[in-house]
Amino acid sequence: PELPADLDSGPEVVLTGSEVRHLSVMRLETGDPLLVFDGRGREARAEVVALDGLRATLRLVEELPGTPETPQPVTLAVALLKGDKLSDVVRAATELGAARIQLLVTQHADVRDIGANKLGRLSRIAAEASKQSRRAVTPAVLPPIPLAALTWEGQAYVAHPYVHDLLAEQLHWDSPVTLITGPEGGFSEAEMEALLARGARGVVLGPRILRAETAPVALLGAIVATGV
Ligand code: SAM
Repeated sequence: PELPADLDSGPEVVLTGSEVRHLSVMRLETGDPLLVFDGRGREARAEVVALDGLRATLRLVEELPGTPETPQPVTLAVALLKGDKLSDVVRAATELGAARIQLLVTQHADVRDIGANKLGRLSRIAAEASKQSRRAVTPAVLPPIPLAALTWEGQAYVAHPYVHDLLAEQLHWDSPVTLITGPEGGFSEAEMEALLARGARGVVLGPRILRAETAPVALLGAIVATGV
């Protein structure tokens, strides 16, 4: 069994409320082992030292190595999208290991700005997804900048349906990675030319056209398929 717990308070951790009910449902008793995690990447082996209907005391036995991040930070630079589509992108990108999510304003975009409320909501979605996938890091969701103002260190890959190169064949874990995906209307020719001239490499995600909210997830999926 695994339970969320505040590991900073150790070597003994006191649980109350729903977590105690959870322990009772699992029929755990004094001396039983379990795993606890803090939702910020830390995990530990623990054992039950005392348990009644209202309170449980656990003893932390050994801290375990937490969930690792990718060998180099991965930035997802994604165009602003219509409606609520970015919520799903941010959630999935967090689960798939993105270290930062940079929003972009692009030529063919219908959406050119995002309010403070919506940006705050995206950050909260990232924090929640990070906790659920037990990451030590919550990706920052950065306010939109024009595509031309996007800079990167290391390698940059731009998803484009009209090229032939595959991410897996080009990616090396020797420097930070930036992944760039376009809006519903795609990148303009001028935007693609400018990105390629600045050293970004075009990569294709199969022969079908993906929706703008699918492409970033597929690109990050190609990253995790390398085993990181
Ligand atoms: N009509 C647009 C075009 O011609 O580019 C389609 C844009 S697509 C709906 C939105 C974004 O998803 C694209 O800008 C690109 O970044 C990405 N994308 C969609 N399908 C792709 C594919 N098969 N390979 C690589 N990127 C793709």
